[in-house]
Amino acid sequence: MGDAVKLSKVEAIKRESRYLRGSIAEELRQDSSRFSEADYQLLKFHGTYEQHDRDTATQRKQRGIEKDYQFMVRLKVPGGRLTADQYLAVDELAGRYANGSLRITTRQGFQLHGVIKRNLKATIAEINAAAITTLGACGDVVRNITTSPAPIRDPVHHELERNAKLLTEKLLPRTRAYHEIWVNGEKVALNGDEAEPEPIYGNTYLPRKFKIGLTIPEDNSIDVLTHDIAIIALFEGEELTGYNFALGGGMGMTHNKPNTYPRLATPVAFVEPDDLVPAVQAVVKLQRDHGDRSDRKHARLKYVVEEKGAEWTKATLERYLGHGLGPPRPMPPLQVPDHTGWHPQGDGKWYLGVPVSSGRIVDRKGERLRTALREAVGRFRLDPVLSPQQDILLSNVAPEDRAEVEATLKGHGVLLAEDLSPVRLNALACPALPTCGLALTEAERVKLPLIAEIEDALRRHGLERERMSVRIVGCPNGCARPYTGDIGLVGRMPGYYALYVGGDFEGTRLSHRLVDKVALKDVVATLEPLFAFFARERRPGEAFGDFCHRHGPERLAPLLAVTDQAMGERRTGTA
Ligand code: SF4
Repeated sequence: MGDAVKLSKVEAIKRESRYLRGSIAEELRQDSSRFSEADYQLLKFHGTYEQHDRDTATQRKQRGIEKDYQFMVRLKVPGGRLTADQYLAVDELAGRYANGSLRITTRQGFQLHGVIKRNLKATIAEINAAAITTLGACGDVVRNITTSPAPIRDPVHHELERNAKLLTEKLLPRTRAYHEIWVNGEKVALNGDEAEPEPIYGNTYLPRKFKIGLTIPEDNSIDVLTHDIAIIALFEGEELTGYNFALGGGMGMTHNKPNTYPRLATPVAFVEPDDLVPAVQAVVKLQRDHGDRSDRKHARLKYVVEEKGAEWTKATLERYLGHGLGPPRPMPPLQVPDHTGWHPQGDGKWYLGVPVSSGRIVDRKGERLRTALREAVGRFRLDPVLSPQQDILLSNVAPEDRAEVEATLKGHGVLLAEDLSPVRLNALACPALPTCGLALTEAERVKLPLIAEIEDALRRHGLERERMSVRIVGCPNGCARPYTGDIGLVGRMPGYYALYVGGDFEGTRLSHRLVDKVALKDVVATLEPLFAFFARERRPGEAFGDFCHRHGPERLAPLLAVTDQAMGERRTGTA
């Protein structure tokens, strides 16, 4: 970046923060319900977002009272792996300090919502006491590292799990601010920037968030190509031969800002097994030095790779690494296995994948999921894995306990995979309203009624057993990966969504925008002619996304019953 470039204001906040300290510790001691703007930005690096309840904001304003400020706390859980005790500790915190729910993120993390400022320090301290961190779960650093969720006890999965943890450790911010503020309160003397160097990040960290996914071609449930670094491990039998690195994936975009777009990672190089950590660190440094620090909407690695090209990216990576790299190696096609239901682990035990709608573990009337999971995990000592489909995999079930584990869950009304249609099982939604400050529309709260309508439409065309991914998000940031998968609905403006089709279930292709604005109430009527066309004209075994891709928007758009809607009737809230 040249001197003439005007840096975004967050850059100054980071630089002046004394390695993420800001005045968070002082503000925590004050009797207010929120933080200053600078600390608001820094808190993200510590794993928490200041939010407010948007449902009550207008009413409270009219009554002259401040917004209902509350915090989302995100736990960094590499590969989604938790022990039974860790799970139970987080469950307990969800009841004590949060809103009684735990939310599995689409990147195998955990979120607590509704924590008030007075309880923030205790919440984070107790998360740490359970040997889980929130450091770097948000902010301009390497976020949670995702990997195949399958708790299979073989050398391949062992290696993935080991490397997800190793990379997490190597890329964790080194600042002691986190422990000072949240854990032990001890101050560490600082004499300028040199006193506490961040060898990888430097004192302004990265230009923007940075995501790493690591998997094998046989399990792309993490949507590896949507990451800044997509690492695909290649094995010959049980022997690791190395890694294909694809760089510059990312979902976020901004409506009406054409220099922002979703992008899948570009295959760039093959990395030898011993080079994994230095090669990942080299990519992080490349982005640190070349990412756009003037415009946060254009700051991800994907724009560097797209604008400078794969050749430049590889050559620059080699310079940071200090030696040359081979080209990416041929690999089998990416696949997405179903991790719900019962599966053998390979060590005589089993895992059970339990579907969790929108990742929300909560007790509802008729389905006491949180209670059921707490009982099953506690009684049978099951170690949970959080999946990128927002489901929970209960691992280490002894064969003789299988029936009892299932009975425990069913006893609380929990629906298992066999109770759900494929479209329901594979649907994702981000939290959106009322907590996410960026949400333009609903997502999680409209998901179930919308999926019920889609199920009815599919049934009318004999497609009810069709495996299909529907992803709903409240804004174009795309936290639930709406631009890959079969159908994406992206919040456009209150009550209206952009409709995307033509991606694939395996996550190898971006979808295309078919409709720019469709009202929530018209989404299914818009999709139904496509379902009818698909049922009539599909090739044997062809998936919906592949079919839409083959025909393209020119052929599909004229079929739609409802075309782009401008400012017609607005509808928000639950459908
Ligand atoms: Fe919030 Fe947008 Fe992410 Fe949904 S996609 S959680 S609305 S930022």
